[in-house]
Amino acid sequence: MNTIKWIAAASAFSLLAACGEETPQTVTATEESEAVETSGQSSVPEITGDDLAGIISTLASDEFEGRAPATPGGEKTRNYIAAHYKRLGLEPVGDSYFHKVPLVEATLDTETSSFSVTANGDIHTLEYKKDIVFWTKHVEEEVSFNDSEMVFVGYGIVAPEYAWNDYEGVDVEGKTVVILVNDPGYATQDPDLFNGNAMTYYGRWTYKYEEAARRGAAAALVIHDTAPAAYGWGVVEGSWSGPQIDLESSDGGAGRVKAEGWLSNDAAHAVFVSAGLDLDALQDQAKAPGFKPVAMTGLTATAHLNTAIRRSEDANVAGVLRGSEAPDEYVLFMAHWDHLGVNPTEAGDDKIFNGAVDNATGVAAIIEIAERFATNEERPRRSVLLVAVTGEESGLLGSAYFGEEPIVPLKNIVGGVNIDAILPSPPAKDIIVVGYGASELEDILDEAAVHHDRYLRPDAEPEKGYFYRSDHISLAKKGVPMLYADSGIDFRVGGEEAGRAYSEDYVVNRYHNPADEFDDSWELEGMEDTVRVLYEVGEAMAYSDAWPNWYEGNEFRALRDAQRDSN
Ligand SMILES: [Zn+2]
Repeated sequence: MNTIKWIAAASAFSLLAACGEETPQTVTATEESEAVETSGQSSVPEITGDDLAGIISTLASDEFEGRAPATPGGEKTRNYIAAHYKRLGLEPVGDSYFHKVPLVEATLDTETSSFSVTANGDIHTLEYKKDIVFWTKHVEEEVSFNDSEMVFVGYGIVAPEYAWNDYEGVDVEGKTVVILVNDPGYATQDPDLFNGNAMTYYGRWTYKYEEAARRGAAAALVIHDTAPAAYGWGVVEGSWSGPQIDLESSDGGAGRVKAEGWLSNDAAHAVFVSAGLDLDALQDQAKAPGFKPVAMTGLTATAHLNTAIRRSEDANVAGVLRGSEAPDEYVLFMAHWDHLGVNPTEAGDDKIFNGAVDNATGVAAIIEIAERFATNEERPRRSVLLVAVTGEESGLLGSAYFGEEPIVPLKNIVGGVNIDAILPSPPAKDIIVVGYGASELEDILDEAAVHHDRYLRPDAEPEKGYFYRSDHISLAKKGVPMLYADSGIDFRVGGEEAGRAYSEDYVVNRYHNPADEFDDSWELEGMEDTVRVLYEVGEAMAYSDAWPNWYEGNEFRALRDAQRDSN
């Protein structure tokens, strides 16, 4: 799951810089033949804790240098995964296991760049990091616009299923739109509106910029507010400043607004006052149906962005076990292989972010699941597709590229399971479903859970939008039914009290920390059972002709129906 996403990126490229190589890292075709040995790891057909431990301990060893994209540790990781695919007899999709992902790093020059608001002739230059953090997704060294009219568009949401349109009756072409974070459901806690407390995709900052771009705006500023954003201004300062890695999109980012940014809450209030407007009152109006966008009369925005651009390349690692009857229909298992790499500025002696839980466990799980399928007496009738994606910690990049440039038609993916960070916790009675109540995949999961004497439960903090912060969302927002489930907290021994304490300890002491390391003392009975349950979800699809869908009313259902109907 990604929060402090840019440290790795910086160290990855600085690692390259450190080695004095200016040429960007590329994925070579020869990697194929240099596939590393799976180091004589014996493995049995069954999904076992020992097999999982073998793979996790390897990927999380210092040798793999925290598996940052576009680094030697990343290359080693890709080769290791490909070697397992080869061992299991998985075929490449196309002529290679490696599917290149073009990356671009953009670093705003905060000395020479500026974002100012002119109010009735008075120019207010917003202070970087104090008032505003801004950047451009245009892959250009210089981007600017002048005197762009400003408009407050409430939550900036266009949701036909809720008859909601915050851009109703206003043309924002070339204008600067100012937007609230999260959604009216969170603001009103009305369960019938935008899923109530649970964040919808409309509430995510990514959606806000995407919708503003669709409307032709020149710039889009999201107003930061700690509770609805689910993190403080410090996270905004840290995550969106410095080198930003992203996918190199085919249009070079031209389809995005020229400037994206966050406004601090104080700065936003001051900007609204300078237009004679009351942000708090407008915020109240914005959460009610029928809200109309408000021109911030007398206010214009001007910005100049100078950005250093650097290109690189990484790869998703994909392998397929061809189905016997319907080889062109795919059951997908996905897990990100990347982690935060080595950070030389990290306090303490240990600079390597080994990422044992996040996400060596997920990679181990999909390999073990593939082994089970590959050694089953009866071959699945549908194909089982494994995709180990890169760049998750940098913003779900590998999975986003998979969604944009799919290696198999998305309409032919029956459903997918994303595995991200399974805690090596003791056996539990429950299974946590992130984004609970979304699709018929949960019905399949429920059957498998019952089979293991377990029950399903929603994640405890739906307002934080965890459903939108891991790789499954990249395919979900393309319509593909995706499941993200995790080990439970209702421990068979010690109950929820023990379970909450266990996950709290991980989050506080090991999450995105060099201490996220494999330990020989790990007892993997709990993880083994969870991975077997997830295998059974895939099994139910791979040996059937069912097409599970999003539930009626779900935000992705219409997309899927259109996808399935398309030729
Ligand atoms: Zn992760």
